[in-house]
Amino acid sequence: MGMDTDYLVVGAGASGLAFADTLLAEADVAVTLVDRREAVGGHWRYAYPFVRLHTPSAFYGVNSLALGEDRIDQTGENEGFYERATGEDVREYFAGVAERLTGSGRARLLLHHEHLGGGPDGERVRDLATGEVHDVRVRRKVVDARYLEASVPATHVPPFEVAPTARVVPVNALPDVIRPGAIYAVLGSGKTAVDACVWLMDNGVEPDRIRWIRPRDAWFHDRRHFQPRELVAGVIEGLALDAEAGATASGISDVVERLESTGRLLRIDTSWPATMYRGTMLSFRELDAVRQIKDVVRLGHVRRIEADRILLDHGEAPTGADVVHVDCAAFGLNNAPGTPIFQQPRIVLQQVRHLSPCFNAALIAFVEVHRDDDADKNRLCPPNPYPSRIEDWPGMMARTWRAEGRWLRESDVSAWVAGSRLNLLRDLPEHAGEPAARAAVERFVTNVPAAIEVLGRLSASPPGVASQAGH
Ligand SMILES: Cc1cc2nc3c(=O)[nH]c(=O)nc-3n(C[C@H](O)[C@H](O)[C@H](O)COP(=O)(O)OP(=O)(O)OC[C@H]3O[C@@H](n4cnc5c(N)ncnc54)[C@H](O)[C@@H]3O)c2cc1C
Repeated sequence: MGMDTDYLVVGAGASGLAFADTLLAEADVAVTLVDRREAVGGHWRYAYPFVRLHTPSAFYGVNSLALGEDRIDQTGENEGFYERATGEDVREYFAGVAERLTGSGRARLLLHHEHLGGGPDGERVRDLATGEVHDVRVRRKVVDARYLEASVPATHVPPFEVAPTARVVPVNALPDVIRPGAIYAVLGSGKTAVDACVWLMDNGVEPDRIRWIRPRDAWFHDRRHFQPRELVAGVIEGLALDAEAGATASGISDVVERLESTGRLLRIDTSWPATMYRGTMLSFRELDAVRQIKDVVRLGHVRRIEADRILLDHGEAPTGADVVHVDCAAFGLNNAPGTPIFQQPRIVLQQVRHLSPCFNAALIAFVEVHRDDDADKNRLCPPNPYPSRIEDWPGMMARTWRAEGRWLRESDVSAWVAGSRLNLLRDLPEHAGEPAARAAVERFVTNVPAAIEVLGRLSASPPGVASQAGH
């Protein structure tokens, strides 16, 4: 069977959908989205049952459709902050997005189909139900919306061996295995591990029955700095702290110390050096909860779990038949190296503004439609890899601010950014007159030129320097 399309988008996760949504809003084109999975939504299809967005719903998803109702939660760990969709909410939302896209009459979904690459008669796509291979003739571009494909515990291969007698479950199975008297060993350092620990405690497990195996300690952001709409002053306050710390930093350790001292960065154990940074955020309630866990094993990555011991990079820890080992060790964000986003005739979706996957995919679609020259498009959309270590923070911020400066000088791009629901700063102009917001804007604007220069320089620092931070 032959097919044709203007754009073939490979991957129907958040990035592919956000790209297609803006592309169709800006241009009269035909789009085909292909995904191996049986439904859209990417990794959210396999999210653990108690997952929520770590960012507010208000700026997540696709540009043309709101997610949630922009309510501020009145109770719970997110009290006082904008609502965060559950995994189920996100899946339903993306299903609705898929209906809207196909309802436009200009989008086609090829689900349960795998993209195999280019062939002599077009892009080759295999129907995973029948094994049949089809050629898709692409008139304009192939869009790689899987370059930064996420890895989650339900679908990854654990990076350690498990002896047949050991009990290891992915975090998804936690609600099925919780039982009185059990001991839990949570494996992983990031947000998923935090969620697992908090969920266990919320479900009656005493902190002293949780052992936390943390290969690296992580830096987190305070959720108050990522609140949109009425609370947007907190976002610009956070960015002002970044710019101030960056403008005068003498090194990576110094900038991290400044960020921690102002509350911009948080770590669970302030007596232990944190090295990992994935750009995730916590509330103080989550932080207080996980700080109650005192049994922390820091012997590097897990290599093998046996019936009575866990073998790690730097030693071993005892375990037992009554211990449920909870795998939260998937990599999550994919920090593949940056590559040009516009590569005639391909587009490789990546981060441009830091930590904003949906916004970036939509922005790239806007630029694709409204600029002709790939060099110009790449100037507006330089790649900005996801961070893994705190040493990645300076370069990531400098790249964001350089790109944002370029958008501001192009009236159509800056107008699109200003109006996009995916832009967490969208409501800043309305609040810019408030004293706190006005002061933060001034501090940001004053410091950002020097911060770009200093952080750009620091991003070239040798790895390992930041491991001194916080001693
Ligand atoms: C647990 C978790 C929570 C997160 N929370 C937030 C949050 O709160 N806010 C935020 O901004 N970001 C968050 N993120 C970041 C997240 O990565 C993005 O929000 C987004 O969902 C990633 O979407 P994606 O489309 O880039 O990747 P994915 O969701 O991984 O989708 C990639 C798709 O490509 C498909 N694919 C790959 N290869 C092929 C092929 N050859 N042929 C066909 N299909 C293929 C896959 O099947 C998959 O569906 C979170 C990430 C994780 C893991």
